[in-house]
Amino acid sequence: MSDSRRSDSPLTDPSDDTPERDRQCERFCSLDGGEIIILRSSDRVLFNIHRINLQITTDGPLAEDFPSAPEEIVQLTESADTLELLFQYVYRGRHPILDEISVTKLLDLAEAAEKYGVSAARSLCYVRLCRPSAHQLQPLQVMAYAHRHGYPHLLDLVAPLTIGMPISKVQDACSISLFFQWLRYNDAWVQLNARDCHEVRARDKHEGSTRHCFAWRALVYSVDITLSGHGLSMLTNLDGLFAMDALAKTADRCGDVEFLGARKCMLQMLEWKKLLEEKSALIPPLSQFQATATT
Ligand SMILES: [Zn+2]
Repeated sequence: MSDSRRSDSPLTDPSDDTPERDRQCERFCSLDGGEIIILRSSDRVLFNIHRINLQITTDGPLAEDFPSAPEEIVQLTESADTLELLFQYVYRGRHPILDEISVTKLLDLAEAAEKYGVSAARSLCYVRLCRPSAHQLQPLQVMAYAHRHGYPHLLDLVAPLTIGMPISKVQDACSISLFFQWLRYNDAWVQLNARDCHEVRARDKHEGSTRHCFAWRALVYSVDITLSGHGLSMLTNLDGLFAMDALAKTADRCGDVEFLGARKCMLQMLEWKKLLEEKSALIPPLSQFQATATT
C-alpha cells in the first residue's frame, strides 16, 4: 500500500518523462497543522492530508492507526480527479455539491467514498445517483453500485431501465449474484408481454365477429415496434407505450363497432393495457428476487 520514494527522491530519475514523476496537488499541499499522511493517486499526484481529519471524518482503512514514516507515501488506486474531490469532504468548509459532474466521475467518487468510508461524500453521491438525470445515463453501472453497497431503494429505482437489455451487457456490468437476480427479474417482464398477454395480442377476430381485423394486427405491430425501439423497459411506462392519440388513427380503421360507437380495436387495446397493468403490479422489485435457485 505504501512506499518510501518521494518526488524529490534520488531514486527518481530527473530525466524521466513528466507523466512518470510525482507531482503535488496544489489544493492539498500543507505540511503544517499536525501529522500529515501523503497519499499518491494512480496517476501520480501527491495529496498531503492530516491524519486527524482522516480519523475523524472517515470510517475506512485511512482512519486506522497505521504506522507512517515521514517519508512514506501511501499508494491509492483512484485517479487524482477523484481524490481531489474526495478529500475536500474530510475538511471543513463548503463541500462540492456535485451538480454538474459527469455520471462516470460521480460513480468513481461514490466508489471511493464507500471504500474509504467518507460519510459526507458517500451520502451526497447516493442522493445524486438517485436523480433520474444521473442514473438514466448509466443504469447498469448504477444498479451494480447500488447492489454492491446495499442500497435497495436505488436498486429498485434503476432496475426498470435495464429490462430487456442484452444479457452479455448486464453480465459484464454486474456481479454473479446480481446477474442471476436480474435474470429472474428480467424474465418476469419478458414473460409478461409474451406469455401473459399472448391471447389478447393474437385475438384478431373481435368478440362476436367472424372476420379477421387487420387494424388490430397493425396495432399490435405498432406497439411491438415501440417496444423494440425503446426497449422492454417501456412496459413500465404503459401510458407512453399505448400513446392513444397515435394508435387511435389505426384503431379507426377497425370495421367492428360497439353499439355506443367505440371501435372494438380501441376497446381491445384498453383491455391489453389493463392486463399489463394488473400483471405488472404482481412483479416484485429487483431487490426481492432471489439470486439463486434456493428459496
Ligand atoms: Zn378491430
